[in-house]
Amino acid sequence: MDVPAGVEVVLAPNPSFMTGPGTNTFLVWDEDGSCIVIDPGPQIEEHLSRIIERAQPHGGVSAILVTHGHPDHVEGAGRLRALTSAPVYAWSQEGSPAATNTLADGEIVPVGRRILRALHTPGHRFDHLCFLLEDSAALFAGDLVAGVGTVVIAPPEGDLLDYLASLQRLLALDLRLILPAHGPTITEPRTLLEQYIAHRYDRERQVLEGLAGGPATVETLVKRIYADVDPQLHGMAALSLTAHLYKLEREGRVARADANESAGPWRLSEPAEQG
Ligand SMILES: [Zn+2]
Repeated sequence: MDVPAGVEVVLAPNPSFMTGPGTNTFLVWDEDGSCIVIDPGPQIEEHLSRIIERAQPHGGVSAILVTHGHPDHVEGAGRLRALTSAPVYAWSQEGSPAATNTLADGEIVPVGRRILRALHTPGHRFDHLCFLLEDSAALFAGDLVAGVGTVVIAPPEGDLLDYLASLQRLLALDLRLILPAHGPTITEPRTLLEQYIAHRYDRERQVLEGLAGGPATVETLVKRIYADVDPQLHGMAALSLTAHLYKLEREGRVARADANESAGPWRLSEPAEQG
């Protein structure tokens, strides 16, 4: 994996359909003996031992940062804290119960003379943080973007309107590298972010087209839009389309055909309802 100077990746042994090759745990250090860990990953003793071992030449683990509260990122945080006495930083204790310190948007975590800036980037999950390593214009992106596979935006945890705003925010930064929590380094950040945004708007257009002929349920929309996709993936597709419908509902562009029927069909809003 292509990483800036003073950064190392320790790949967790948790490969799966959802995590790709596994979770990337990152070490970021400065020569003064500060070494922080980003996303300790799953609670697998062998993985946590490797993190500690790799941090040893840099003065040991001085702090633990968490991008968000999904187990493949945060589960090992409490155990790593117990083994190293390092504090755990996250957006909230609600999202990451092992957190000892919370970070606000824009807050700085110093690593010796280097600066990591926390950016609150909700969408995949409400508590999602990215960390910008300012001296390298490199972004530790957690699950906001992925080096392999796609990012799941599943309501109620995931929020597509927030997610798109977070992608736009990253696009406004002049990033040189994105280091995702799953898969290889992204060396063309702008191109990838533009593709991600375009992909979601393509899907949104399909949802609106799918409702143009009259009300339809999520299941009907999945069958139309994902006709070429393995039916085993239709459960995930339904979550993704639901995220789109919630976004469009918040924007006043679609509504439930029967306001009392939460599992029922969706329809386009009347022009008078929009605005
Ligand atoms: Zn996640």
